[in-house]
Amino acid sequence: MAATIWYENDADLAVFNGKKVAILGYGSQGHAHALNLRDSGVDVVVGLRPTSKSVEFAKEQGLEVKPVAEAVAEADVVMILLPDQYQAKVYNEEVAPNLKPGAALAFAHGFNIHYGYIKPSEDHPVFMVAPKGPGHIVRREYAAGRGVPVVVAVEQDPDGNTWPLCLAYAKALGALRAGAIKTTFTEETETDLFGEQNVLMGGINHLCDMGFDVLTEAGYQPEIAYFEVFHELKMLVDLANEGGLNKARWSCSDTAQYGDYTCKVINEETKERMKYQLKRIQDGSFAKEFMDDQAAGAPHFKELQEEYSHPHLETVGPKLRGMFSWNNGPAADADEAESFNGKIARTQVQ
Ligand code: NAD
Ligand code: MG
Repeated sequence: MAATIWYENDADLAVFNGKKVAILGYGSQGHAHALNLRDSGVDVVVGLRPTSKSVEFAKEQGLEVKPVAEAVAEADVVMILLPDQYQAKVYNEEVAPNLKPGAALAFAHGFNIHYGYIKPSEDHPVFMVAPKGPGHIVRREYAAGRGVPVVVAVEQDPDGNTWPLCLAYAKALGALRAGAIKTTFTEETETDLFGEQNVLMGGINHLCDMGFDVLTEAGYQPEIAYFEVFHELKMLVDLANEGGLNKARWSCSDTAQYGDYTCKVINEETKERMKYQLKRIQDGSFAKEFMDDQAAGAPHFKELQEEYSHPHLETVGPKLRGMFSWNNGPAADADEAESFNGKIARTQVQ
């Protein structure tokens, strides 16, 4: 079945006339949604805890900022852009008791609805606009006149108007300049978790670090290893994004291509392991493991963050990245620089 894809002409920003949108959270996605919607002419209020460092960032951008309960109370659409593990608590304590009758709830990831951590009453529309890119790119692309594609879904449609609202939101975010693909909360949640665990992060990150270890343990210079197993990846990914794996292969030598075709590092066993990961996502055991650890104060998560905070690649990474004059460092703007200081854990903002 071909996917349904919507573009600019499929949505009408007039849907927002007389409506107010509360964006809860001002992190990676929150700042991008609030600024893009505001610049598209939507009436936006940002909901944050008064103690949050982000209050000042948001105000500096000219946004209206209120405590979560107050922002929710005046909103017709509430987009929840808090970390997934805290959403249910904030929903139960501050969102649900203050939600206007018929106000819509929106998400950028299906996790809490799909796994049942948040259970909105049936009279509220529930939709998802999930950007297929990090928040900082969602903002950068919008500002450049382009957009990051999104996947969109409607979980509850009590008034029959949820799809036009969902698509108008995607349009205001700039996403329809690129396109919105129709999905469901279940499909988005399961495929998103699968992608980040097996390929985009868990797959690639471990592959690069392991490749670096194999070369340096064999006595090769770390600087050379860094280039060979990590730095060039971006250029190949750029080519693959432009024209698929064939374009990346086309640009490489026959020697490189032959090595690619005959390599057995990723094999049927890897596929079986991926299927196992998928099963744990589908049966909810990955979600439960993550949420239970978070509820206990995230001891295992913090241990892992610390353990992976010093990838061997980074022994030479900062020096080598500095050799590329067009690479202006780890952050493209002051806000990014403020929260990314070379460490995984975000300077929280809480
Ligand atoms: P984040 O960690 O960058 O930001 C979270 C924000 O919530 C911060 O401003 C923080 O101060 C605030 N916050 C935390 N606890 C709070 C509380 N109790 N009350 C009020 N505010 C609180 O989060 P994020 O990465 O932008 O993720 C937000 C949502 O977007 C998640 O559902 C995530 O799955 C989804 N998503 C994220 C990305 C991404 O690029 N990071 C991409 C697609 C979807
Ligand atoms: Mg994702």
